[in-house]
Amino acid sequence: MNKHELKLEDYLLFDNKVFRDAIHGYIRVELLPIWNLINTGEMQRLRRIKQLGGTSMVFQSAEHSRFTHSLGVYEIVRQIISLDQVKDHLDDYEKLCVMCAGLLHDVGHGPFSHSFESVMPCSHEEMSVRIILEDSEVHDVLASVHEDLPQDVAAIIQKKARPLLVQLVSSQLDCDRMDYLLRDSYCCGVTYGNFDMSRILRTMRIKDGHMVIKASGVQAIEDYILARYHMYWQVYYHPVCRSYEHLLQSILTRVKDLYDSGYVFFSDISLLKPLLEDHMSVSDYVALDESVMMYYFRVFMQEDDAILKDLSERFLKRHLLKYKTLESPEALTRIQRISDAHGFDHRYYVTSDYAKNVPYKHYDISNQTAEIEILKEDGQIVSLPETSEIVQAIIHAKEKEDAKVFFVKEIKNEI
Ligand code: CA
Repeated sequence: MNKHELKLEDYLLFDNKVFRDAIHGYIRVELLPIWNLINTGEMQRLRRIKQLGGTSMVFQSAEHSRFTHSLGVYEIVRQIISLDQVKDHLDDYEKLCVMCAGLLHDVGHGPFSHSFESVMPCSHEEMSVRIILEDSEVHDVLASVHEDLPQDVAAIIQKKARPLLVQLVSSQLDCDRMDYLLRDSYCCGVTYGNFDMSRILRTMRIKDGHMVIKASGVQAIEDYILARYHMYWQVYYHPVCRSYEHLLQSILTRVKDLYDSGYVFFSDISLLKPLLEDHMSVSDYVALDESVMMYYFRVFMQEDDAILKDLSERFLKRHLLKYKTLESPEALTRIQRISDAHGFDHRYYVTSDYAKNVPYKHYDISNQTAEIEILKEDGQIVSLPETSEIVQAIIHAKEKEDAKVFFVKEIKNEI
């Protein structure tokens, strides 16, 4: 079958399925392949991975999962490709591809996403692509529709597909960001992330194969960009969230160091071995989720190694690392020395980081960042900063940065 002759009506479910959702009201599933993807082991695993990792250590109601977010991204894609002004710009096969890509874009996330990525040989995007292309239930569902579907869905996540399809899933104005801003702010109980998504959708147009926004939608876009900026500084970069992630990284580093040195674990670490030995198949990878890792942290409290035992206990009891603004590299060396002198090996008990976020990326040849494009009343297309003084101002404002050092509370009085 020529894939571009595929008809979505041939894949309609006998009964539509709906998921109640706190953000979108309902998430509507009309197609059998989407329903089958949701029911794969790899997608269901995302129920056991939190969307925000350490953020719930500060914003205690932010307990939502990657599964919930993935369904939300799918729903926004579905709504956009059903809009009157969009629907005739994609054929049915492309519509299926982009809905699958929205649903699957995060399927490769590991437990505690970002901390875990630091000990992984590849990024979560690369793992999403491997799960789609290699031996998995997701791959089987996609390949059963058309042999090219796994590759065509992966191409969207890898940004190698037609611009319109890529834009919907990953760009400065994509369904991923729209869902996570609305969902994360709702679940955290803050209002910074809120913006008028229905207005953005209503002012969306397709011009020369690209998504553009009508000039009357500029204020809604400005609001969305500021929402993202505030969410980064108020929520995602909160130092307590970073502290939690550092502790987690220290545990993973200690486990790896012990394993490499031939330490004999009391715990059965068979599920962690592929990670420690750096040869993970897709099935080894999807065996790891936050429930598994939490179990390990609990049994590590019974290990002979004092550092691993102590770090795990601090993690589970939320005795996080303290922090302060890092003024100079010398200050870091000084804190490392104090930590060592108190018997807290600085390789595990002192860390530093540097948070930096650009609210809107101006087009730049080197990183190929695409501008958000605005369609003026006379039909001319201009970039967002050309028409928005607010965006213009934030591009020229000094970049906000934050360097912090983290250490145990036992040495706090000496710092
Ligand atoms: Ca995402």
